[in-house]
Amino acid sequence: MSERIRPVVQVATATEAIEGGGFTVRRPFSTVDLSVTDPFLLLDEMGPVEYGPGEAKGAPDHPHRGFETVTYVLDGAMEHRDSTGGGGVIRAGDTQWMTAGAGLVHSEMPLADMLRDGGRMHGLQLWVNLPRAEKLTPPRYQLLRGDELTVVRDDDAGTTLRIIAGRVGEHEGPGKTHSPITYAHASLRAGARLDVPWEPEFNALVYVLSGVARVAGEAVGAGQLAVLGAGDRVAVDAGTDVEAVLLGGKPLREPIAWYGPFVMNTRAEIVEAVDDYEAGRLGRIAPLNA
Ligand code: MN
Repeated sequence: MSERIRPVVQVATATEAIEGGGFTVRRPFSTVDLSVTDPFLLLDEMGPVEYGPGEAKGAPDHPHRGFETVTYVLDGAMEHRDSTGGGGVIRAGDTQWMTAGAGLVHSEMPLADMLRDGGRMHGLQLWVNLPRAEKLTPPRYQLLRGDELTVVRDDDAGTTLRIIAGRVGEHEGPGKTHSPITYAHASLRAGARLDVPWEPEFNALVYVLSGVARVAGEAVGAGQLAVLGAGDRVAVDAGTDVEAVLLGGKPLREPIAWYGPFVMNTRAEIVEAVDDYEAGRLGRIAPLNA
């Protein structure tokens, strides 16, 4: 059986955007076609940023329907609250996997101590599309604590892989997904090589958070996304210490109708989502003192 390292077919540089209450994100998918990232819709890197006292920002109450938001906090912490009573505090190393499904209204805010004192914030938010048949599934949360991730460490090679969801070879992460995907965070020491099996039916994306990597021989720097072609292995070499995320999934190949925080299959379903939100049918967040 011949094994083939997936080649790089595109290197995309993240653009910057302002989100929520005014924080800057790096957005690596912005120049990549949705058919290439499918089933992933969006990846936002928040920070790294050092907030001074009173400077920390979040995303106040807003709705979602039709997909999942997956928040992985690398530094700092966030608190999510929603109209179903769900949410929770996401601390460094933790992942919150929120299936918005049929819809909710939520807020994503820094904790009170970071709002007051400032501090370092760094995280990722990935949007995972839901298959048509599951777009209106009831909202669900999975809080995956940092120490619950599947960690594959090779001290000799200088590589650490933290698997959030899906399989990498014989290793499997704890996240439950609606369609088959793999999401992992790789740390490589300078000079290290990570070479792992990758499901041939999945797409494959490598986003570099810091350092300079070579992905299948192509230079990929911080804030850049490598889109890989066909094959059954993913290989990353570290020119410096490197932090990167590996993403892959089986494409849904379904029509996408996307309006702001709603991602459905048809325009009529978007109109219905906006109507439901404006009529209050996605609920509202209860006051803290209620
Ligand atoms: Mn949100």
